Amino acid sequence: MGADNKLAASTTANETGMWAETKDRIRQIGKTLKLDEGVVDVLLKPEREMTVRVTITGDDGKLHSYEGYRVQHSSVRGPYKGGIRYHPSVTIDETRALAALMSLKCATVNIPYGGAKGGLQCDPSKWSKRELQSATREYATLIAPIIGPMRDIPAPDVNTNSQIIAWMGDAVSTVSGNPSPATFTGKPIALWGSVGRDAATGNGVAVATQRYVEMQGKSLQGMTAAVQGFGKVGLYSALGLAERGAKIMVVSDVSGGLICKDGFDLQRLCDHARSQPGALLCDYHGSEAAHISNEELLAADVDILVPAAMEDQITGANAGQVRAKIVSEGANGPVSTEGDRILEQRGIAVIPDILANSGGVVVSYFEWVQNLQGMFWDGDEVNARLDTVMTRATKDIVTYAQANGVSLRSAAFAVSVNRIVEALLLRGTGH
Ligand code: GLU
Repeated sequence: MGADNKLAASTTANETGMWAETKDRIRQIGKTLKLDEGVVDVLLKPEREMTVRVTITGDDGKLHSYEGYRVQHSSVRGPYKGGIRYHPSVTIDETRALAALMSLKCATVNIPYGGAKGGLQCDPSKWSKRELQSATREYATLIAPIIGPMRDIPAPDVNTNSQIIAWMGDAVSTVSGNPSPATFTGKPIALWGSVGRDAATGNGVAVATQRYVEMQGKSLQGMTAAVQGFGKVGLYSALGLAERGAKIMVVSDVSGGLICKDGFDLQRLCDHARSQPGALLCDYHGSEAAHISNEELLAADVDILVPAAMEDQITGANAGQVRAKIVSEGANGPVSTEGDRILEQRGIAVIPDILANSGGVVVSYFEWVQNLQGMFWDGDEVNARLDTVMTRATKDIVTYAQANGVSLRSAAFAVSVNRIVEALLLRGTGH
């Protein structure tokens, strides 16, 4: 056993990237909480991993194939839960990291799930609608044996949406012969989806940020914000913060950033984004806005910075330039370990992804509850319940951080790991 552990230690020594960083953070918390090595090991190793090969006939008449994954990290607190992303940079290690973060995220907000993640290594922007549907159905059919309403409940993530989830649900029902609405969340409203799911992650970012600010004895009213990413998370984070009184001064998408010192009229930006499929902010020419680079966005002189695009945006190379006082992580893993260390040293508060962006999975949980009951809630009920869950979780994490003199990320890791370990020990795992 000792030798095995030494081997494991030496093979992890050279690892880099998000999975290595996530495991380091878990090990660190294990030490702080004085957990047994065996217990920490449970969190470091996913329970099940599936690699699939998705083959489709392209519009060119040729066969094309793509590698995909579903990683089920932990089922200690309930069925596996987590999104599926389509992106060229998807790897098994990234999927492992994101699956582990889902286990911690569900425990941070105290909803009865474990964690999982799926991914397909592809560039969906190059596909026609038919190719997208083909790949989606194939991927869903391949993971069908390991998912289900009490097993593993996938949802959308980067570059996937309710239409893609609808195709997945249809493919899985066709294989099983049963309609099973609670197998996926993030479905269209017409197919048992929940009102408020689209806006949920961004709304959750806004609530967590608001409650954190209030716990510092301040108010969002009049604070300024920069939002990186103008997809669903970025857009609804901006709208949610603006609704609570903040001024959105900087926004960006893959094409670059825009700054408006007086604060944007977000409706005009939304109209532009919806003017045609794939509309980019670099083509927005409102006279109030000036174009800036992504680096300038991250260094903007604002109170709140919301990185809501992809991982590893704030790193050792640029964390020194961040001028915001609060970083609220809309994306998963947007701040690297080194970036985090620098922000902490500089007194910048980071509301970690596993708290800040958990609104998506919280409303996924509401969707699943509604599906299992065969009942539907209205928008007010969904949003009020989301506010309750996010407010309670933010209070739990901020209180822990203050009581123990640690960062919000360390607090969220500690609170969530404690909850998972409590469940693990109660179950008598490893009896
Ligand atoms: N993809 C989202 C996340 O990373 C939502 C997951 C879900 O709803 O299961 O939290």
